[in-house]
Amino acid sequence: AAMHPGGQVVNLLQSRRILPPDGPELPTPVVRQNFYKENCSPHIFRCTLGVIPKTPGLLQKSRLPLGILIHPYKDLSNLQVLSTSTIVRCRVCRSYINPFITFIDQMRWKCNLCDRTNDLPQDFFIDATTRSVGDPSRRPEVQSATLEYIAPSEYSLRPPQPAIYVFLLDISFNAIESRYLTVFCERLSAVLERLPGDARTQVSFIAFDSVVHFFQFETDWKMLSVPDIDDIFIPSTEGILVRLHENIQAIRELLSTIPDMFKGQRETQSCMGAAVQAAYRMLAGTGGRITVVQTCLPTIGPGALKSREDPNMRAAKEVNHLSPATDFYKSLALECSASQVAVDLFVLAGQYADLATISGISRYSSGWIHYYPSFNVVKHSAQVDKFQSELTRYLTRKIGFESVMRVRCTNGLSMHSFHGNFFVRSTDLLSLANVSPDAGFAVQIKMDETLSHTNSVDFQAALLYTSSRGERRIRVHTMHIPVSDSLPEIMASADQEAIACLIGKIAAERAFSTPMSDVRDGVVFACEDALSAYTQVARPSAGQLLAPYSLRLLPLFTQALLKSTALRLGVSTTLDLRTYTLLNLKAAPLFEEMMSIYPHLYAVHRIEATPLDQDGMPQLERLQLSAEYLERGGVYLLESVVHMILYVQKGVSPDWLNAALDVQSFMALQDRTTDIPALDTEVSYRLRAFISHRYAQRPLHPIVEVIKEDSKDRLLFLQYLHDDRLDTVASYQEFLTQISQKIKA
Ligand SMILES: [Zn+2]
Repeated sequence: AAMHPGGQVVNLLQSRRILPPDGPELPTPVVRQNFYKENCSPHIFRCTLGVIPKTPGLLQKSRLPLGILIHPYKDLSNLQVLSTSTIVRCRVCRSYINPFITFIDQMRWKCNLCDRTNDLPQDFFIDATTRSVGDPSRRPEVQSATLEYIAPSEYSLRPPQPAIYVFLLDISFNAIESRYLTVFCERLSAVLERLPGDARTQVSFIAFDSVVHFFQFETDWKMLSVPDIDDIFIPSTEGILVRLHENIQAIRELLSTIPDMFKGQRETQSCMGAAVQAAYRMLAGTGGRITVVQTCLPTIGPGALKSREDPNMRAAKEVNHLSPATDFYKSLALECSASQVAVDLFVLAGQYADLATISGISRYSSGWIHYYPSFNVVKHSAQVDKFQSELTRYLTRKIGFESVMRVRCTNGLSMHSFHGNFFVRSTDLLSLANVSPDAGFAVQIKMDETLSHTNSVDFQAALLYTSSRGERRIRVHTMHIPVSDSLPEIMASADQEAIACLIGKIAAERAFSTPMSDVRDGVVFACEDALSAYTQVARPSAGQLLAPYSLRLLPLFTQALLKSTALRLGVSTTLDLRTYTLLNLKAAPLFEEMMSIYPHLYAVHRIEATPLDQDGMPQLERLQLSAEYLERGGVYLLESVVHMILYVQKGVSPDWLNAALDVQSFMALQDRTTDIPALDTEVSYRLRAFISHRYAQRPLHPIVEVIKEDSKDRLLFLQYLHDDRLDTVASYQEFLTQISQKIKA
């Protein structure tokens, strides 16, 4: 057999500088047959193995996890949308016709998931674009691994719901102190016309402290307060949930008034639970989206919580209170999900808000959680940029309502467990009250039997949803993977990023119910297993720790995952920040999850001399996360899930400082400044272009912050040097030695 392109062997102990300068390469699927078009994009669909083992025994021998990662509703610039009278699907397994089926003759096709023969409908011979009779293989359905259908009426249980948005605003003392209302109302007002929807779009506003305040729109607006939070009701059937476009003036007026309305408010209690119940009742008949902005612990009414965090335990050897204090939020989320209502949380808390408990409202209703620790417009102005930018993306990005996603695969394989924010309706069906273009999912796959009948397998994800313009649509992605009985070939095909992300998602899921030390052990075992299995393929001699080229970064990622904010021990980490990063691991698409596993590090002090790519962007090399690669006097940009740090070392060139940050010397540079000035210099232009290009690729907007080498806060940067030893936590090199010894033993 021909050598797989990834067939080289790497001795990890002698290859310390191992991260490629442009990051881990994308998998190149092995395709043995000529298909009509190429495979599904790796930006949408990834499998942990690029070649699937023929037998369950062989899969076990490889000791690699089998799973898929999907970013199903990702923004795409070239999506093929098809309006057709018949959607061609297998009559047995109901999968959609796709590029990897086989035409038996001009009349019939063989399903690649269940092998059954199906008839082609008459109109399949008509070329959709030219309207002429032609070869069925020219149809878009068999040309494109990603396709969106406009669904006929049989795909709807009821008329498509309109876009409905309910905004729940915390107005307790904490909320007023933070002054977030000004930012929120100004942003929402600015993008009101850009909220996804049509003439039917409806909105409603609820404010809450110790009571729930509704806003009623007639010609003007008025506030209706309901103090009975233990038995909440909607005070009027008219004018509370209203059409956006018919009331846009009154809504704008309300939004400009709210920030001043509650000034001087002293009420410290917060009845978030009752407010969400009220919003849910409003939407129970239609479905929609609830957005909650919360600034403190909910303390009164249903779902009231008590502070559980012990600040002295933030660096402890075990993490307590990651499991919810009450199942109130989960139960309410399940009710919401059943009524096609999703709840998104913006937590802008100065103090502990028990994210581990309140996030249940989003986790089980296919919502999302945004987190802004110590948000304060006056004291922490940089957070305002982050909030504004992420809120704008949130309000204007596309959205799908009343959605389900089914993942099908070739017979012999089955779905084992799902990861992400959703409700599982049956073994292969996820209920998604809302679907967001920023949500990722993963599925662990079980191999039930030998794949004797086939030399390839296919995975197909079908996302059925209602668009914001009331159209029922189905987005279908199909991924094709060959099968092999050669262990070396299977191991050479491994996708190390997909494996690291699947391990990360499993760990994050477990962390909410299992002791952190067990979760961490599980992560280490997964890495050790993969490398020890490889000793059956390549026999190491003394002083060698061998990995296939395809898995050479797995120990690096594993070690980094253990040191990430989500899973670390022994480093002070607030419970809410840990919870947030765990939730992010669990539900982020691969690209974003890799950012939390192995942040990006770039040297920017020579940015002026860096070659540009075809878009005019500096091609900065990615560096491994170790002080070993930092030069004296250098300036480094560190990008993680929550940080964008510009780390400036002593001895930096004054010319660079002048050109990039408009200061004359290291001494004169202000520590923790967030202002990267727009200067008329090549350095400034390139630096800002590079940073904004990074932002353009991500839904999150980390704050750019300058940290000086002599800063008391330099740990903010140093905590990300995951390859290095940190106090009692091993370095990458030590980690390799430990694995190497365990494998031998
Ligand atoms: Zn079938």
